[in-house]
Amino acid sequence: MSDKFDVVVIGGGPGGYVAAIRAAQLGLKTACIEKWLDKEDKPRLGGTCLNVGCIPSKALLDSSHKYHDAKDSYGVHGISVGDVAMDVNAMVDRKDKIVDQLTSGITGLFKANGVKSFEGFGKLLANKKVEFTAHDGTVTVFEAENVILATGSVPVNIPPAPRTGDIIVDNEGALDFREVPKRLGVIGAGVIGLELGSVWARLGSEVVVLEAQDSFLSVCDQDISKEAAKIFKKQKLDIRTGARVTGSQINGEEVEVTYLDAKGEEQKQTFDKLIVAVGRKPFTDGCLAGDSGVNLDERGFVFVDEQCRTSVPGVFAIGDIVRGPMLAHKASEEGVMVADIIAGHKAQMNYDCIPSVIYTHPELAWVGKNEQELKAEGVKYKVGKFPFAASGRAMAANDTDGFVKIIACEETDRILGCHIIGGHAADLIAQAVIAMEFGSTAEDIALTVFAHPTVSEAVHEAALAVDGHAIHIANRKKR
Ligand SMILES: Cc1cc2nc3c(=O)[nH]c(=O)nc-3n(C[C@H](O)[C@H](O)[C@H](O)COP(=O)(O)OP(=O)(O)OC[C@H]3O[C@@H](n4cnc5c(N)ncnc54)[C@H](O)[C@@H]3O)c2cc1C
Repeated sequence: MSDKFDVVVIGGGPGGYVAAIRAAQLGLKTACIEKWLDKEDKPRLGGTCLNVGCIPSKALLDSSHKYHDAKDSYGVHGISVGDVAMDVNAMVDRKDKIVDQLTSGITGLFKANGVKSFEGFGKLLANKKVEFTAHDGTVTVFEAENVILATGSVPVNIPPAPRTGDIIVDNEGALDFREVPKRLGVIGAGVIGLELGSVWARLGSEVVVLEAQDSFLSVCDQDISKEAAKIFKKQKLDIRTGARVTGSQINGEEVEVTYLDAKGEEQKQTFDKLIVAVGRKPFTDGCLAGDSGVNLDERGFVFVDEQCRTSVPGVFAIGDIVRGPMLAHKASEEGVMVADIIAGHKAQMNYDCIPSVIYTHPELAWVGKNEQELKAEGVKYKVGKFPFAASGRAMAANDTDGFVKIIACEETDRILGCHIIGGHAADLIAQAVIAMEFGSTAEDIALTVFAHPTVSEAVHEAALAVDGHAIHIANRKKR
């Protein structure tokens, strides 16, 4: 087998494996190098997303949601299920099985598409050469017409709470608890902290979330974050903003965390487990030779242009190692774009239309600009909102928390943003993404026929409400 490739991808996460499959589909001789080894030292494709991120966290969120529903919500429907119990081992084993299926599925897709898979470490050398060190230590140097760097990200550690692997853990450890911690601390009220905190709160943990920022979920539209704060409080997620962790002390089987509260006063709190979820940083350690020519920015991200070209012609970088949100779908779409460009096609990505989701219950999802951003930019806009409490389908499902909010340009009616908190927000947001991708106005959605009864009708009604024409609520403003 020749060691010359049209494309060598370093990293087999959702950025890298998607880029490799697309490149191979387009007739390019493609290799993908992936270093991941699982707990049993078995090589795995799929990166953070499939192994310790999106998929396993959603498996646990779904299991814990079903448990919670059976325990607390079935009664409303007249269903009594007696004593509901959770077998945590079965829940975690199910999650592991899903991860197994999906990661080996990528191996199958590589074979089907003719991507050559290499298990070990890849390092970019000068002149688009790639050094591959297999897990047995054998070193080979590949020549590549094009290289795609897709080495992803790793959790940020904070000195006051260093990981111990058993009591103080990161997202990976939090997916593998084999019993429900009685007292669970979470540092960081971001996406990962809220999702993992929710899993264990539903199973009975007393969860305290310590968030250094003074405001809660500042990335969201403020209407959404305020509503989420109210709902999470009811769910007994104790979220403390302005709480700066200054130290942690392991005492036998527990950890005492010291933090400064919003008033600057020192507080102490003891937990059985502590999840550190303060963010992730790009991973490039050992991946770039000193003379590779690839530049990093001041925060350690690989510096790229709009089309993911690095400072070296023929070398691209995608996903969590480059600017933009750290999201699997953003990484994958960059992978497709770059493979298309390498194959000689015109391709670009619309970075203004990348949806974000937090998979708590209710889910939070948004795309485009929020009110704070538009105000800061001085853009004139109008807002339409529709609560799920007024949706027949949501009522039938006993899932009426939240609302859909559509923001449109005052002058042109173009949709500038959509913000949803609700049971199906993650799926509903796709409607707004498609509308925005096509440059739709709020009226375009208002004139579209939606099936009845569906929760999607809330998107329709929010679009109608933009001009004060919602049917199933009293409009604030009428024209
Ligand atoms: C708990 C959690 C939940 C998440 N949930 C979501 C979600 O619901 N939705 C969402 O969109 N995003 C979610 N994310 C984020 C998502 O997982 C990442 O944005 C995504 O995985 C990034 O893809 P990537 O391909 O850039 O990097 P990664 O998935 O990190 O993959 C990079 C791969 O490169 C490999 N690698 C690194 N260096 C080398 C090297 N030198 N040689 C060979 N291989 C190398 C790594 O082993 C890894 O497999 C979540 C993350 C976490 C931690």
